[in-house]
Amino acid sequence: MSPAPRHGRRLTGKVVIATHNAGKLTEMSELLAPFGVEAVSAGELGLPEPDETGTMFAENAFIKAKAAADATGLPAFADDSGLCVDALDCAPGIFSARWAGPTKDFAGAMARIFAELDQRGAQSRRAHFVSALVLAWPDGHTELFEGRVFGDLVAAKGSAGFGYDPIFRPEGHDRTFGEMSADEKHGVDWQKGEGLSHRARAFVELSRACLAPAS
Ligand code: IMP
Repeated sequence: MSPAPRHGRRLTGKVVIATHNAGKLTEMSELLAPFGVEAVSAGELGLPEPDETGTMFAENAFIKAKAAADATGLPAFADDSGLCVDALDCAPGIFSARWAGPTKDFAGAMARIFAELDQRGAQSRRAHFVSALVLAWPDGHTELFEGRVFGDLVAAKGSAGFGYDPIFRPEGHDRTFGEMSADEKHGVDWQKGEGLSHRARAFVELSRACLAPAS
């Protein structure tokens, strides 16, 4: 692997992944693996989950990353992400986790999407995932990296991944995220700077700015 180009501060040593979502934590740890940073999760550190009071993905990611950096004195990053359905005016959007409720009933949340599409008589099944990734440094400096993947919604297939993966089929593919391996969904060709998932794409941007491959 050739060194990733860097334009900003280089992230090394210990970093906090400010999430309590197991699916995201796995993906983010895998995405960080080639860079030799020591990732610890907010859950492992016993950090509380701040209220996501923002009205945009980036705002919520900022709240989570900043809280973790302030609490630990370490660089911290957080992803706020979700599924935006065109014909539902971008719902569930920033409420993607909340639609599943405290019991994490994603089958129910996916059924609600199709029920609301039917109620509106919507023909379009277009949707996209968004990942807003904020890196917060202990001195207060923050950076935002974003990734999106467009596609459409289909009847649930596959049990890989998490959340809404079974109903999302990315453009140019005939399988849903739920039918893809972890590598196919969020693996990155770091040399070409290409990845499929919204989170992989946000990490490509992060790597350009502040990560260098472990030697
Ligand atoms: P939050 O960013 O912690 O508020 O939660 C984002 C929510 O969006 C997750 O709980 C999932 O419901 C959904 N989501 C985000 N990324 C993905 C993904 O890669 N696959 C499936 N669902 C996702």
